[in-house]
Amino acid sequence: MDLLYKSTRSENETVTASQAILKGLASDGGLFVPTSIPKLSVSLQELSGMSYKETAYVVMKEFLTDFTEEELKSCIDKAYDAKFDTEEIAPLVKAEGAYYLELFHGATIAFKDMALSILPHLLTTSARKNNVKNDIVILTATSGDTGKAALAGFADVPGTRIVVFYPKGGVSPIQEKQMVTQTGENTFVVGIKGNFDQAQSGVKAIFGDKELEKEMNDAGFQFSSANSINIGRLVPQVVYYVYAYARLLANGEISDGEEINVVVPTGNFGNILAAYYAKNMGLPIHKFICASNDNKVLYDFFTTGIYDKNREFILTMSPSMDILISSNLERLIYKIADCDSAKNNELMTALSSEGRYSITEEMKGKLQDFYGNYGSEEETSEIIKKIYEETGYVIDTHTAVAAVVYDKYTRETADTTKAVIASTASPFKFTRNVMNSIDPKYDAMDDFTLVDELSKISGVSVPNAIEEIRTAKVLHDTVCEVEEMKSVVKRFLEI
Ligand SMILES: *Cc1c(COP(=O)(O)O)cnc(C)c1O
Repeated sequence: MDLLYKSTRSENETVTASQAILKGLASDGGLFVPTSIPKLSVSLQELSGMSYKETAYVVMKEFLTDFTEEELKSCIDKAYDAKFDTEEIAPLVKAEGAYYLELFHGATIAFKDMALSILPHLLTTSARKNNVKNDIVILTATSGDTGKAALAGFADVPGTRIVVFYPKGGVSPIQEKQMVTQTGENTFVVGIKGNFDQAQSGVKAIFGDKELEKEMNDAGFQFSSANSINIGRLVPQVVYYVYAYARLLANGEISDGEEINVVVPTGNFGNILAAYYAKNMGLPIHKFICASNDNKVLYDFFTTGIYDKNREFILTMSPSMDILISSNLERLIYKIADCDSAKNNELMTALSSEGRYSITEEMKGKLQDFYGNYGSEEETSEIIKKIYEETGYVIDTHTAVAAVVYDKYTRETADTTKAVIASTASPFKFTRNVMNSIDPKYDAMDDFTLVDELSKISGVSVPNAIEEIRTAKVLHDTVCEVEEMKSVVKRFLEI
């Protein structure tokens, strides 16, 4: 029997995994969740002998039950190949009393690669399984990281096109260079004369345009989204927690069945939710330590039971966590409401109308496994410097927020459970803030000199993703007004 997926907001739509991946969001605006979270079908001992790809298969097959073994293995093989600079895919590095799970060895050196390198293959396989004949057109608005990771994932994948809109002048020079040098016949990158919100609203308007949908269909195209609420992004993220546990066991760092803590620098709540799913599958996890930056909506939520986005939006040096609405939290809310979609719907309606909601005492009682805290900008800089000076290991600004919160947690609780910290980006991606944290003298240097300096002090060679853009040719120079976004998409698709 296939595992089915349903919406977090109503009871009347159940779909297969491949249909959920194709649709992205449920028709009622809810998120797709499995009707029950499956259990691991192999022992921890067996897992400890498996490679990353083997682990990916045994975890993902439990969620994507309508994929054949051959289909799923083919997706995994195409995703976790030489795009990653290590065969381990997600290595564990021990430093300062914790284990850093490096999720940044893919094409764009940030953790989004873990899911976005497989999503295109899951999506095209899903299309084939459901007799979709159209080419899939991915439309994304980005404030920096997601756009490049999606481009790298979809580039030259047969049956797909990808269009990325970014705010011209609103992303870092390195981020822009990464996107406009993207190769692949099916890729299209456009700067818009507007901010990220306008790019996002423009994309939403195009998605909702019925007339365009018909024109697209006549020409053999349909839109889809690579957004982090797609179940096809969540499921691949469960894998690396299982893999990390298995590595610890294989290396004799823990005993079979011993619980670990996981610490996750959080924005949209996707990464930490994947850890929660891993525990529900049977992985021995004690605490989920949720780390926020100065945008500490989640810290407030875990301490008070009130989610309130009515506050100032703060720009920090961990920009991928500058988020006030953590979309994936809805899946946890649904779970602690005992899968009561009406209750969840009521809270999400309050969130969209008033910007806040409050959970019941009973629901709050089900959050015992979570601990939330946050790191300020100053604390984040300090810990980068401290870990570097004490161990020689250099972490990025997002991972540093997690390190700060882990430090607060151990001081508060004296819990000695071994901890895995999700290391979500390479320090080479946020070089300036990382280097300035270590020594303000670096601020005078240009971006690529800093890259070389970082390589020198850390003893880590410059990742390919950075090396490439030093000399890469600009391949995309389209800039448009916000009002022109739709016509630009049509021009690209030649319709
Ligand atoms: C996206 C991102 C995060 C936040 O992950 P969520 O799944 O949105 O919580 C953290 N760090 C980096 C580097 C990211 O790119």
